[in-house]
This record gives sequence, structure tokens and C-alpha cells, in this order.
Amino acid sequence: MLKFDTNTGPFQKNGQTGNDMKQIIPKVEKPLTVLVTDDAPDIVLLVSSILEKDGYLLLKSYSGEECIALANANHPDIILLDIMMPDIDGFKVCERLKADSRTKDIPIVFITAKIDTKDKILGLSKGAIDYITKPFNPEELKARVKSHLQTKIMQDKLRETNNILTEYLRTATLTNDFFENITKLVNLQEVMSITKKYFSEIFEDVERFSVWLYDSASDKFVLEVAKPASLEKKAIAIKVEDSPIMKKALDRKEVVVENNFKDSDLYNAKTGKRYKDAKFMCLPLMVEGKVLAIVNLTSKKDGSDFSVYDQQKAISICQILANKIENCQLYKKIETLSVTDSLTNLYNRQFLDNRMGKDFARVVRSHEPFTIIMADIDHFKSINDTFGHQAGDVVLKQFSEVVVSSIREADFAARYGGEEFVITLPATDLLGGIKLAEKIRRKVEKTLKVTDGARNRSVTVSLGVSSLQNQNYKHPDELLKAADDALYRAKEEGRNRVCYDKKFI
Ligand code: GH3
Ligand code: MG
Ligand code: MG
Repeated sequence: MLKFDTNTGPFQKNGQTGNDMKQIIPKVEKPLTVLVTDDAPDIVLLVSSILEKDGYLLLKSYSGEECIALANANHPDIILLDIMMPDIDGFKVCERLKADSRTKDIPIVFITAKIDTKDKILGLSKGAIDYITKPFNPEELKARVKSHLQTKIMQDKLRETNNILTEYLRTATLTNDFFENITKLVNLQEVMSITKKYFSEIFEDVERFSVWLYDSASDKFVLEVAKPASLEKKAIAIKVEDSPIMKKALDRKEVVVENNFKDSDLYNAKTGKRYKDAKFMCLPLMVEGKVLAIVNLTSKKDGSDFSVYDQQKAISICQILANKIENCQLYKKIETLSVTDSLTNLYNRQFLDNRMGKDFARVVRSHEPFTIIMADIDHFKSINDTFGHQAGDVVLKQFSEVVVSSIREADFAARYGGEEFVITLPATDLLGGIKLAEKIRRKVEKTLKVTDGARNRSVTVSLGVSSLQNQNYKHPDELLKAADDALYRAKEEGRNRVCYDKKFI
């Protein structure tokens, strides 16, 4: 092993250019390799024995073809090359090595008996960096080899540093673009689709990635984005304990890097066999100490370990995503609150008006059936007066529960006013609406009671039904008015009953 100045000297392969880089490039101590090529075995032996004393690793070859093959297979740090050889001469070998991207950066020094200036110029024009003539002085040989290797190593280092800086810049630019592209979004699905695009670029060196939302209510991870995309189709939600690595990131609230998965305590030979050789980085996406999501990165394409740099890169982009997820969830909450009646959790009147406008326009165009029910609790004022306002509130909540448990998913219930409710029923005709209204009326009559211990009262409800079926209503208000009129008749005819739009009578 070659021992030159290991900190700052040029003789360090894969050297580091500063403290930051230490984290990026693993330090690999490798002896410098010299490939010597001469058809005369005694020259090869002589050169080798001189240089081996200086600690170099010597590769020996005795023909032009052999030299090219060894250069390709071993990437030596320098080649000492004879010119006159029986198969192909040194100039051609040099030409071929310089024409190949894999070997073009290896410095070539000719060692030859040829001392002609013309030949020297020819050799240098083929891309060689120097010329040593036989017979040579061993000290001169050593000095020249050392000097060319110093230059070569400095060039290698510079190239490496440039590659690192290019990668830094690329990641920084992409991260910045990602931030700018999601910053105005408030819809989580849209954010996830942009995330997928940017993650594919930023983590292009990773075989698989996935983004999971953490649902604390069900203690499950819900898959949002994945590479390969085939994983997304399944709309996966998994229990937290089914992914030990994501569970660890969730519980510890810190990044989990596992470069040796199968020997870790997270590996389960029964369930995780297909990930036996995988490496993982699992990041919790947190805001104010609360885990909102998990990002999973699985195995680098080149098989290398996840490094500290990979981790830093992932953390910065995940923090941007974490903040955005929180922002979207908050926005959704506000949006939901603004359309929800806080007492009953049904939609409020403002949202009903909005929704009715849209539904009405759609069903008028498509000639779909569309029916609505308007419901009003009977003698509600008296319930309040007798049992108190709070008991009245409980009745409103219980009535809402009866409604929600009676309707289908496509139906829609709103609190229209104090104790008035509207239910919209798409793809439902008048008869369907009457049947549902009657079902609700019966359920209320049977189940809703108010009591204060001393007194009991059954709660009843009156309902009016109207429908677009065969009617030429031009505006949702006309349909609402027809339901309200029917409701009024139900009240007039004695309450606790269902009446329908009298145009159908
Ligand atoms: P009818 O059978 O004709 O519908 O009689 P009613 O007493 O139910 O109707 P009225 O419109 O006279 O009274 C409705 C009452 O509902 C009056 C109002 O104070 C009460 N109310 C409105 N909103 C709420 C609420 O949020 N909570 C409670 N407890 N009462 C409410
Ligand atoms: Mg009433
Ligand atoms: Mg009323």
C-alpha cells in the first residue's frame, strides 16, 4: 500500500477535498497501479522491480493487445508503453486507448529505444504525456512516474469534485423547483402528482420510492405515490405493524437508514423475503413533532449504501413536502368546516344552495331523475319550551343521525334552517323519494323521544317531497318551493306525515 501524505497530498485515490466531502465519498485506500508493457520480458521485470519498491501495484503485459485488455479490465493509474512490439506498435495502442472513453484519461508514457525527435513528436501527438528512453536511469524513471501520477490524481480529484458540485446543483435546483411548483397548491392530490414527478428526478438513483400518509385515527399508512407506478393501482393501506421499518420511523420520529436489512432486527424472514437484499431509508414527515407521512426509499440502483449526503438531500425535500401536506390538510379542514353545520355535522344551507345549483343544471341537461325531500320537526318550539333548548339540540342531532343512516352515498343531506332539513336524491324518482321520506318518518316516530325524567314526548316529523320528474322546473328554487309547499300541507293535514308536490296529484 502506497503511503504518501494521506491528508492533503495528491497521492490518495478517491481523496477528499474537504470535511463536507468526507461524508459523500467513502474513503477507499487503494495502491496506485502501474501497467507496464514491453515485448521484452527483461524490461518488464526491470521496470517492475524498480517501481514495486516505491509501493506501486504493477500489472505486466507483453504485447499491445494484452496492454489494451489489461487497461480496460483494471483501469491502471499510468501506463508505461514500449513502442516497437510485434503485434501492434505502441503508437497504435496509444491511439486506441485514447479513443476509448474508459481509458482515455490514463496517462501514457512511452519507454523505448527509439530516440528520434520525429518519433517523440509522433508519440506525443497520439496523446502520450512523456517519453523515457532506454536505457533509463531508475531514479529518473521513479521521478517521472511520481510526477505524472501526481498530475493524474489531481485531475481525478478535480473531476470528482466537479461531479459532486454538479450533483449538488442539480438537486438544489430541483428542490427549489419542487417548492415553487407546490407552494400555491391546496389540494393534496395535486401536490402528490407534482411530488411524484420531482421525486422521480431527485431520487433517480433509487430503485423504488413511496410516499405514505399516516392516518392516526385508523393507525394505518395509506399509499399516495410510488415508483414503480404499478404499486399505486392497488390503493394500498397497511397497518402500521405490517411495516417494521416505517413503524420504527414513526415511533422514533427520526430517519431510519438500513443498509444491511437482512441482518437487522427489522427483517422478518417470513414476510420480508423479497426485500432480503434491499437497503432502506425511511423518513418521517413531521410538522411540530407530529408525523403526517412517511417517505420510503428502497435500494440505490448502483447497489451502494445510502450515504449521509443521500440522507441530507432526502430530509430537505421531505421537509418541504411535510409542510405542504400539513397546509393541504388544514385547508381541507377549513373547507369542510365552512360547509358544515356545527351542531348536526350535516352540510349547511350555503353549501346546499351551491350544490343544488350544480346538480340541478346537470340533471336538467341529462334528464336524470332528481327528487328532494324537505323535513321539519313537529312542534319543535314546544319541545324547546318544555324540555329546554339543550334537549332540543339533542333532538336535532338525533334526527340528523336518522337521516344519515337512511340515505345512500350519492344522496346529500343539509340543515336548511332551525329544525328544517333538505335531502337531495339524485337518480331517484318521486316514488323513491316518497318511500325514503316515509321510512324516515317511521324511524323518527319509533325511535326519537325526549324526556326529563318526569315527562316523555315522542318526536315526529313532517316531510314534503318534490321531483323534477315530468316537471318543467327551471330553477332549483322552484323545486325547493314545491317541496316546501308539500311540507306545509303535511303540517296542515295533521303533521307526522309525508305529502308530495301537488302537481303530481
Ligand atoms: P311546526 O310543527 O309547525 O313545525 O312547529 P314548530 O314549533 O316546530 O315550528 P316553529 O317554526 O314555530 O318553531 C321552530 C323552533 O325551532 C323555534 C326555534 O327557537 C327553534 N330552533 C331553531 N334552531 C334551533 C336550534 O339550533 N336549537 C334548538 N334547540 N332550537 C332551535
Ligand atoms: Mg317545526
Ligand atoms: Mg320550522
